[in-house]
Amino acid sequence: MFHSWSAQGLIDPLAVAGAEGSYFWDYEGNRYLDFTSGLVFTNIGYQHPKVVAAIQEQAAKLSTFAPAFAVEPRSEAARLIAERTPGDLDKIFFTNGGAEAVENAVRMARLHTGRHKVLAAYRSYHGGTTTAINLTGDPRRWASDNGTSGTVHFWAPFLYRSAFYAENEAEECARALQHLEDTIAFEGPAAIAAIVLETIPGTAGIMTPPPGYLAGVREICDRYGIVFVLDEVMAGFGRTGKWFAAEHFDVVPDLMTFAKGVNSGYVPLGGVAISGAIAETFEKRPYPGGLTYSGHPLACAAAVATIQVMEEERVVENAAVIGETVIAPGLRALAERHPSIGEIRGTGMFWALDLVKDRETREPLVPYNASGEANAPMAAFGAACKKNGLWPFINMNRTHVVPPCNVTEAEAKEGLAALDIALSAADEHTTAA
Ligand code: PMP
Repeated sequence: MFHSWSAQGLIDPLAVAGAEGSYFWDYEGNRYLDFTSGLVFTNIGYQHPKVVAAIQEQAAKLSTFAPAFAVEPRSEAARLIAERTPGDLDKIFFTNGGAEAVENAVRMARLHTGRHKVLAAYRSYHGGTTTAINLTGDPRRWASDNGTSGTVHFWAPFLYRSAFYAENEAEECARALQHLEDTIAFEGPAAIAAIVLETIPGTAGIMTPPPGYLAGVREICDRYGIVFVLDEVMAGFGRTGKWFAAEHFDVVPDLMTFAKGVNSGYVPLGGVAISGAIAETFEKRPYPGGLTYSGHPLACAAAVATIQVMEEERVVENAAVIGETVIAPGLRALAERHPSIGEIRGTGMFWALDLVKDRETREPLVPYNASGEANAPMAAFGAACKKNGLWPFINMNRTHVVPPCNVTEAEAKEGLAALDIALSAADEHTTAA
């Protein structure tokens, strides 16, 4: 096998024997609490019997069918998703995952506006295909950035590592909005089709924008006729304790991408939720885009069952409540004991610990994009997690706490206890050690 994002000669993948709920296990009898939700997609955990049964039933009934036909689970999934997306994002275009959703959102925005340029943030991740990786503002872009797509990057707000030397959230918000205005002025508003942002940037560090920022971007987009795209591939479907993260900020984009949690990743599925005005553009004029497996019946049957499970088992509420009553105080208590924790940020089942060498200087525990020996402190932290039965999400100097949204209180506490032990390994690499 050829593994993604990996040096083939260095990767030693764990052989997974099985998984259930919030846990998976290997062939040697090691069992891990999965604080990664896979790649932040198993929002209802592994092997939920109702979703497995729905896939099996659909496979027996009608296992595949071409797009542009009304197939029951496809229509039903679109209806259930549209009912939950904010505002008038009521037309659902299906893809096989998040990157394809971003690709199509950008294409829709370009055709709708007749403009070409797209603005996206540094410190973002939008997917591994050509346009999506071009928009991505993390180092995974470097190797495949052709620089000719009309993509322009700007700095979105992030107070802890402010690009604007801001001292508080209000200042960070105002300066970030001014910076965006300046970027638009210099790029030419009449050339800009879309601004693409993750509602809460995930992979790049779970950086909740300050109050007023997304509303400010909405206002800027309206003023210049720019399509506002929110990427909810990671933050959507309960992850933040709401169906969609946009609800926290009272904003409605023109296009919203989703994937991952839509069916907990049991069968690949993603899509774009489209506003009335943009859908209208393609009423008489064909939309030049589509995928052979768009709205695959098995994926859509899994989505219908997943959404039903989320309603029946109050999974979104669970993410909000366990996040607020167990994870948040638990992480705060860890920060009191562990000098390697520079900042804790997040909401619901979407948290990041920013690990530092020194709390005063905020110097990251490992250098940006570190590998090998330079990454040893994070490797030691990761090994200690695994030794204590916790599978951690690690990205550069951060660990993300992103368990399934239906995690129980006992499981959340078990994970926090393992983090407590593992953070001691990180503490040894701080100036406080
Ligand atoms: N957008 C965001 C915000 C993501 O987090 C991801 C995946 N991590 C993607 C897009 C790409 O999704 P996929 O890997 O399903 O193509």
